[in-house]
Amino acid sequence: MLRIAIQKSGRLSDDSLKLIRECGISFISSSLKLKTESTNFPLEILFLRDDDIPGYVADGVADIGIVGQNVLVEEGMKHLSVEELGFSRCRLSLAIPKGENYTSLEDLNGKNIATSYPNLLESYLSERGIKAHIHTISGSVEIAPSIGLADAICDIVSSGSTLISNGLKEVERVFKSQAVLIANQDLSAEKKEILEKLLFRIHAVQRAQRAKYILLNAPNDKVAEISQLLPGVKSPTILPLAEEGWSSLHSVVNEDDFWEIIEKLKAAGAQGILVVPIEKMII
Ligand code: ATP
Ligand code: ZN
Repeated sequence: MLRIAIQKSGRLSDDSLKLIRECGISFISSSLKLKTESTNFPLEILFLRDDDIPGYVADGVADIGIVGQNVLVEEGMKHLSVEELGFSRCRLSLAIPKGENYTSLEDLNGKNIATSYPNLLESYLSERGIKAHIHTISGSVEIAPSIGLADAICDIVSSGSTLISNGLKEVERVFKSQAVLIANQDLSAEKKEILEKLLFRIHAVQRAQRAKYILLNAPNDKVAEISQLLPGVKSPTILPLAEEGWSSLHSVVNEDDFWEIIEKLKAAGAQGILVVPIEKMII
């Protein structure tokens, strides 16, 4: 049995549960329970505050966990990281009142900066030779300048709308973050084996998220040219259409290359192009 710690309620919770479910792991969850066990995979799920997750994993209370890199690095536990998960993307940024002038980081020398991430901020500033007074506060950091507590803040930003609504502007990006899977460093052989199985499933889910299944029709004399554009996992599947002289090609394309490929396919004579999502992908 492997024990995973995930955030009980917050910005990591839904996507963490979704990832576990997409790995085909079933469980009954209730918002009141602190712990649940999967019905079809040797996994127990603990629901905790995100800040407690790295410590519990380091101590072996939980074997693995899902947490933001911002919290992991702030707590000095970067070495526990096993896999980037691609969700809860955000950044830690410095922001100042929008009416203030800003030319460079030098402007923050000697200023008061409020943050919940004193270690990340301290190392960012000291690497750049800036000395500021860091005030550690645990929440509502964005109101600190308006109540006279600080000249600037260093806080999590995703769209930037919270900053704008508090009359602030982003001036520097300090740290880029996403959710990561972390693991205790002394897992037993049995637990390591379960973790490998879980990682295998996570990779299949991640691969599928980036890949699309593509189907198209092409005149037979264009099939060779179009096949070159569709590398697929091995090579495209080619099936004859009922209509003489035409074929159907099936393949897999990466989402990143998608629009570029579609343009080229159309130019090469492809018709009736269908693009469908893939649920899992094992290669
Ligand atoms: P807890 O009650 O568990 O301590 P919290 O209030 O500290 O929760 P959340 O606001 O739920 O934490 O954020 C959890 C993590 O989600 C953050 O550490 C960060 O990695 C990420 N995150 C925070 N804000 C955003 C955002 N706006 N967009 C995407 N991810 C975010
Ligand atoms: Zn927290």
